[in-house]
This record gives sequence, C-alpha cells and structure tokens, in this order.
Amino acid sequence: MAKTNGFMGHDMLAPFTAAWMIDMGPLVIDKAEGSYVYDVNGKKYLDSLSGLWCTVLGGSEPRLIEAANKQLNKLAFYHSFWNRTTKPSLDLAKELINMFTANKMGKVFFTNSGSEANDTQVKLVWYYNNAIGRPNKKKIISRKNAYHGSTYMTAGLSGLPSLHLKFDLPPPYILHTDCPHYWNYHLPGETEEEYSTRLANNLENLILKEGPETVAAFIAEPVMGGAGVIIPPATYFEKIQAVLKKYDILFIADEVICGFGRLGTMFGCDKYNIKPDLVSIAKALSGGYIPIGAVLVSEEISKVIMSQSNQLGVFCHGFTYSGHPVACAVALEALKIYKEKNITEVVNKLSPKFQEGLKAFIDSPIIGEIRGTGLVLSTEFVDNKSPNDPFPPEWGVGTYFGSQCQKHGMLVSFSGDHVNMAPPFTLSLEELDEMICIYGKALKDTEKRVE
Ligand code: PLP
Repeated sequence: MAKTNGFMGHDMLAPFTAAWMIDMGPLVIDKAEGSYVYDVNGKKYLDSLSGLWCTVLGGSEPRLIEAANKQLNKLAFYHSFWNRTTKPSLDLAKELINMFTANKMGKVFFTNSGSEANDTQVKLVWYYNNAIGRPNKKKIISRKNAYHGSTYMTAGLSGLPSLHLKFDLPPPYILHTDCPHYWNYHLPGETEEEYSTRLANNLENLILKEGPETVAAFIAEPVMGGAGVIIPPATYFEKIQAVLKKYDILFIADEVICGFGRLGTMFGCDKYNIKPDLVSIAKALSGGYIPIGAVLVSEEISKVIMSQSNQLGVFCHGFTYSGHPVACAVALEALKIYKEKNITEVVNKLSPKFQEGLKAFIDSPIIGEIRGTGLVLSTEFVDNKSPNDPFPPEWGVGTYFGSQCQKHGMLVSFSGDHVNMAPPFTLSLEELDEMICIYGKALKDTEKRVE
C-alpha cells in the first residue's frame, strides 16, 4: 500500500478500514480525468472499479458537472415533505418508472444511498403487509455473502459475518439462505441446473420451517457484486421465483450495482427475467457524482401504500434530502446520456474484450476462478485451483495482488482473496489494453510472492 506522508494517523473513522491502515497513511485521491484518478502526489491510476462501482461515465463527465451547477444556481435545495417538492424529483420519478420495464412500477421513493434504499424496502414491506392484514408476515430472506448496505437493517440483510461481528447483528426478522456460487458450493457431478434446484428446495424448506405466513420478502442482487461477482447458475432465478410465488413472498431486487447497464442490459432483472415487486437503485443513477438512491415500488404495492397513508394521516417515512433537486438533476442528465449513447450497446461492445482478455489468465496456478459478465469481473485466488484450498488469510494474497495493481497504476477492489473489477463504460480500447497489461504484471508479482 502506498504511504502518503502527511496523512498518517488521520482523523477520519474511515469506512471498511482498519486502524493499522490509517496508521500507514491513506491513498489520497485528488483529481479525476476520464477513466483515471490521480493521488495528491500526482500519481495516475486507471480506476478499474469506477470508484466504488459507480462512476460509470468516468470521473469528469462535463454534462453531469454542468447539470449540477445549473441546478445549484437555480434552486440548491428544497425538500419533498408535506406535498411540497421540486421539478427535477418529479421528472426523475417519471423517467425511472418508464425506464424499468421488467415489471410495472407505480411509484418511486428517493433516498441518498443504496443502504437507505434497502432499509426503506424493509419498512415498505412491513407497512404493506400490515395494511393488507398480514401483521405476522415480516421475515426477510437474504443470501449468505450478500452485501446490501451498512445501516442496522441492511448490514443485517448482508450475509457477511464480518459485517455482523461485534455489532450485535443480524437483527430479528432476517434470515439467510444459500449463496448461489456454483464453482464454490456445487456437489461432485452436480450440474448448474441441479444445483439451482437444490438451492430452490433449500429455500422452500427454510420457508416451511419458519412458516410461510411469517416470511414477507426475499432480497437479491441479479449478479452479486461485493460477494465477488457471483453469476446466478442456470435456471436459478426461475426456480427461486417459483418458490416465492407459491408462498406469496415479495421479491426485492437490489440493482444498486447491476442497474444502468453494468451487465449489458439496462437492469439485471432484464438479463435474468426477474419480475420484482420492489427495486433498489443508487450508484450509477447519478454516475456516482452526487449521493442519490431510490426504491421503485410496483403498482400493486404502491396502491396499498397510498391507501394506507390516507387512513393513517400521512406516509411517515422520508429523509431531508429525499429527492434532492441537485442530485435529481444530475441523475436526469445521467439517464439522458445513457439513452443517447445507447449505454447497453457500449457495454456489450467492450465486454467481450474485457472478459476474454482477463479470463485468459485462468491458467495461473494461484487463480481458481475468473468470473464475470458485461463489465464486471472477479478473480478468485486459491491454492491448487480448488475452492477447498483457500490461501491462509494471513498471506493476504488478494490484498497483495491489489497492492501490486496499485503500484503499477491501477485500482481494484480490496477485500480478501477475490478481487473485483468494474470499469467505467467510457473506457477506451487502449485503456482496456492497459488494464489487462497491469493485471498481468500484478499477477506475475503475486505468483512470485506465493511460490
Ligand atoms: N446494495 C449493493 C448491492 C451494494 O453493492 C451496495 C454498496 O456497495 C449497497 C447496496 C449499499 O449502497 P450504499 O453504499 O450507497 O449505501
């Protein structure tokens, strides 16, 4: 890890950072230019994770900056409480309902982040079930290894023990079922279809054990991002959705990473034929330039929520910055750019070279699996090419690979022995070549170290 003198032992309680890292000094990013970012010492890095999976239009798109400036000059803030609101938030809600076609959506609730969106989902599901006379139908099923956010509820929904440890999580009402990682968890001789059937059966058994009358919703990303780009095995969502339908359980699609083109379709739901009742979006919604997230609510659930709010007085849920006009103006411009550029076509043109170029490294003796689709990919470092032989965590193999990428001028994710990449959609072919070249150099360094 690069030492940046002058910032060692800084004052931030930094997210997902250990104290020893703070003591060594952070990498301080100062400037962005297209697919690159620069640190305070002027060193240039290819940003192969689009910030945190969000700056899909690169880090310096003038139209997004102009949209923010224009709105700041006209109306920097007004809220959306008590039937007061702003035009950008109304326009954005309309645009999102038109854009999401996997199921008919009725209303949009704005948040500031993906965590707030998923947190809101839990409240909406409970509010809905209370309204229709099912007060016991409250449990939410998530999946092991999933990442759905960092608030109390969403860290609970996340299926990562490290997010629960010492935080007294998960809270009540949250259950976890299998992570659908075929390479890691399939039985000898089991096909992808058979594996999906087994997982759907396990889900059904969990629902039956808990009592279907107590299970309200299932939350899932179409492709699990933070878990290490887990691509659903063949027939998985078809079989899972059949179980949910059987027991009248809602489907919450977490599109925080997959939404807006990452997989080569506008939404992950389009790719895997998912018909969600509720959808969470954030990140690429504003190209990452300004915090905004949203919940899309199906027509059917929207009607119930609206009618319940009439009975109770108002719908008592909201944030000061729900539908912030500057965030909405930037998001509207981002959506306009996605449409004009035909962003899914852009991703589909780049992705074969991205996927094939990086998957060509699969013969490395320290790599077990390289998996991905569209413009997202993860490399899993293991011994003996086997999921049963992880490297000792104290070797920090994935972390070492990440630090070598950084040394050679590229930023990738930084967690355990899977390393994620999700570059901006604006990546040029030359930049893609550079990405593959740096990956190769970092891999060689890492192989030497592990030998
Ligand atoms: N859901 C998914 C799938 C995510 O990857 C993330 C963040 O990475 C979140 C939710 C939480 O979003 P935020 O960090 O904006 O709160």
